Amino acid sequence: MPWNFDYLIVGAGFAGMTIAERLVRTKGARVLIVERRNHIGGNAHDHYDDAGVLIHRYGPHYFRTNSPRIREYLSQFTDWTPVDYTIKSFTRDRYWNFPVNLNTFEQLIGRPATSEEFIEWLEKTRVPVENPRNSEDIILSQVGYELYELFFKGYTLKQWKRHPRELDASVCGRIPIRTNRDDRYLKEDFQALPSAGYHRIFQRMTEAMGDNVKILLNTDYREVLPHVQFGHMVYTGPIDAYFDFVHGKLPYRSLRFEFESFEGEALAARERLSGKTGFWQPAMQVNYPDASVPWTRIVEIKHATGQRCAPTTIVREFPEDFIAGKEPYYPVPNAESQSIYKRYKEMADALPGVSFIGRLATYRYYNMDQVVGMALAEADRI
Ligand code: FAD
Ligand code: UDP
Repeated sequence: MPWNFDYLIVGAGFAGMTIAERLVRTKGARVLIVERRNHIGGNAHDHYDDAGVLIHRYGPHYFRTNSPRIREYLSQFTDWTPVDYTIKSFTRDRYWNFPVNLNTFEQLIGRPATSEEFIEWLEKTRVPVENPRNSEDIILSQVGYELYELFFKGYTLKQWKRHPRELDASVCGRIPIRTNRDDRYLKEDFQALPSAGYHRIFQRMTEAMGDNVKILLNTDYREVLPHVQFGHMVYTGPIDAYFDFVHGKLPYRSLRFEFESFEGEALAARERLSGKTGFWQPAMQVNYPDASVPWTRIVEIKHATGQRCAPTTIVREFPEDFIAGKEPYYPVPNAESQSIYKRYKEMADALPGVSFIGRLATYRYYNMDQVVGMALAEADRI
């Protein structure tokens, strides 16, 4: 006897969990969620590590949104702890305020300055580009060569193994440039972390679905296809894999995360450098644009979660090629990958009974809120 469900949902990340919750609670649907990993939450998964520190397993996840609808939707499942996400960049043997702002300019020229002076300097220094087409153009057109070389070129080469010229302007264009002293990393109105962590959101969504949901972990959806009947599928995995790579493989970048915990003597030695009791480094995130180190950033999420505990955990992020056995963390935004994606999208659009949503299935460098927005819209539509 096959299992019967109204919907089969592939992937238990923000996309899959949000659409499942909406289909159950607005339409009374019965849904099966199938997830390859051993946990729900996708890349937003967090948990307490062996040292007792709350960590983000797949890189730092800073929640932000400009959408009241998305914020209200998620607020059913969590309270929020407001965070001013601030980071540093480490190059030329020192920490810099980053993203570029008036403080960074003062560090560059070695003396106090005003916004007017910085604006004047930028006018002289920036490279006029009428239509910034790629990530090099967009940064040069805002700040010129020196700051581009200092903070962006090396980091981007390391992260993407591609020149900034080979990436859409939107990649480096995500990073704000400011002439005042606002040094928050993000631009959105609402910036906060879920007070009890991300995993709690996914647990509450699961609880809200009650008996109408069944979740299978450690399972590829293809394994269950012969055993289930369903009316509609929502697919949130990589779109090229869904279509057996008939148009070739889409490029992705992967990452390796190296976690390290500190306490006692080892942490005390670092506290003298970080200037903060209980912390290894001076900020939640430090970016390393130089080619001399193989990681792109070191994150100490305890700065942002506000957890009070003696130990701390840092994580170094090493960019890697996407090969067998690795996770496809980042779609690569450029013209070449878009032309491949377009062919898959045409196939997806022509396929009845399957919705493709989320970062991997739409091959978009989306943030969590954008993925939640997409899932809410699709739940209304189907
Ligand atoms: P995912 O979370 O990737 O979920 C898809 C799920 O599908 C996965 O769990 C996968 O295992 C499963 N799956 C795939 N194929 C199959 C299959 N065949 N069978 C069964 N299951 C399958 N966003 C922010 O808003 N702020 C941030 O600070 C931020 N930082 C990030 C840092 C990193 C390093 C990365 C990689 C992403 C970051 N993001 C951030 C983006 C955020 O992770 C995504 O927007 C969001 O998690 C996407 O949700 P999703 O459900 O589309 O995909
Ligand atoms: N970037 C950079 N230098 C930095 C930070 C970011 O050149 O110090 C570029 C880089 O190409 C990166 C992109 O801007 O991939 C987006 O950065 P963000 O921190 O938003 O990346 P994510 O958190 O998504 O990895």
